[in-house]
Amino acid sequence: MTHKGYEAVIGLEVHVQLSTRSKAYAGEGYGYGEAPNTQVSPVSLGLPGALPRANWGVVQAATRLGLALGCTIREYNEYARKNYFYPDLTKGYQITQHETPICNGGHVAIETSAGPKLIGLTRIHMEEDTGKSIHDLDPFHTLLDYNRAGVPLLEIVSEPDLRNGEEAYAYLNEIRQLVRYLDISDGNMEEGSLRCDVNISVRPVGREAFGTKVEVKNLNSFRHVQKAIDFEFQRQVAAVEAGEVIYQETRTFDAGKGSTSVLRIKEDANDYRYFTEPDLAPVRLTPSWIEGQRQSLPELPRARKLRYQSELGLSEYDAQLLTDDKATAAFFDAVCAAGAPAKTAANWITGPVAGWLNERASSIDRLPVSAASLAELIGLIEARTVSHSAAQQIFGRMADQPGAQPKALAEALGLIQQSDENALMAVVDSVLADWPDKVAEYQSGKKGLIGLFMGEVMKRSRGSADPKVATDLLRRRLD
Ligand code: ADP
Ligand code: MG
Repeated sequence: MTHKGYEAVIGLEVHVQLSTRSKAYAGEGYGYGEAPNTQVSPVSLGLPGALPRANWGVVQAATRLGLALGCTIREYNEYARKNYFYPDLTKGYQITQHETPICNGGHVAIETSAGPKLIGLTRIHMEEDTGKSIHDLDPFHTLLDYNRAGVPLLEIVSEPDLRNGEEAYAYLNEIRQLVRYLDISDGNMEEGSLRCDVNISVRPVGREAFGTKVEVKNLNSFRHVQKAIDFEFQRQVAAVEAGEVIYQETRTFDAGKGSTSVLRIKEDANDYRYFTEPDLAPVRLTPSWIEGQRQSLPELPRARKLRYQSELGLSEYDAQLLTDDKATAAFFDAVCAAGAPAKTAANWITGPVAGWLNERASSIDRLPVSAASLAELIGLIEARTVSHSAAQQIFGRMADQPGAQPKALAEALGLIQQSDENALMAVVDSVLADWPDKVAEYQSGKKGLIGLFMGEVMKRSRGSADPKVATDLLRRRLD
């Protein structure tokens, strides 16, 4: 992405909301969309004298994400207070990490239209969410919901390695896929489980030094992230060209207008008066515990995709589709484990199954057909008991009647393919006996008439004849 000889330099700060059972420093849980102010406690409300306790699940999630991204895991972790006032933060400070983030370094590997690229990571640290200010429900007042206060977050800070919206999109997609594979977050951007702030500056192509960056907040979809980047890039280039100074400021994205506007001039770290959190003991991780976490990581999307290609012989395209989300990959594995050949299972899942789900805007975990039943249906095709097109009809019925056996449905629908030679030969003979002229024409060279005979065989067998067997039998009689 260049424009008038300029390029964008972009770094992302991504907040991942963890789906731990309890909050970061308090015992209550959190569910999106619950009645306001019902998931709170003295700790998350910051009542005087309430004391936080660190949730071990957060440390574990941070470690596992860091290991999956090739970060160095810090053994000695302190918590820090970041002090500021805002109505959604009754404590007056956020418990975060400042100088000792749990993960350093590492990278996110992305695919772009220009090829693969590694995006460096600066750090990942543990912190907590704030409550929510609701400005658009009451015409006169701001409403406050503290359910979200104290929900654990991991903040993932990238190096300024991204250059355009496409790369930012790919980066976010990788992170979302990874947190879902690791089962540490649902990664749902609409519900705020994944949030992203964009830092962006511009510089003439070829210059090393970075320009002054602007931070854009309030981005709640991948598309908004791309739009905000496109808008800011154009705006900053125009400003620089006009000889204006770019200020280090925080801007907000207006989804309706597709533009950004100034929110505030950026605070310095100094303004937050960070200091070590006195109410929480530091967490010390041992190398053997960290190693244990590394050993117990699940198979990650990239490795799974490569395995599907090298071990199962799938195309890169199929392997990509199947590993996009963990549930689909797990379903595919289960269909194969139940005996279906990999390539056929892949075709079914990326074809009829995906089509069925798309039509209903549903997802694979809600598919009413079990992996075992699909494997059984595939087995019927492999055994030539039903034709491929009959199998598609049977699949539709299986989805309507969960638990129904594919074989029983095939019988009930009269879709069992007739491949018994004796039975089919009787049909073939009756057809040929009724068309003596055509048989003579065929034998004097009009070989195309085989289509006519086949059509008649299919009609008389009410569509159940195995086409391959029927053709063979016709040829045997005629040639
Ligand atoms: P701050 O102290 O303002 O939060 P950081 O150094 O922590 O700034 O960086 C925050 C984010 O901004 C990181 O993702 C980083 O990669 C990115 N960033 C830093 N400098 C620039 C720049 N000049 N242009 C674009 N992004 C930048
Ligand atoms: Mg920062």
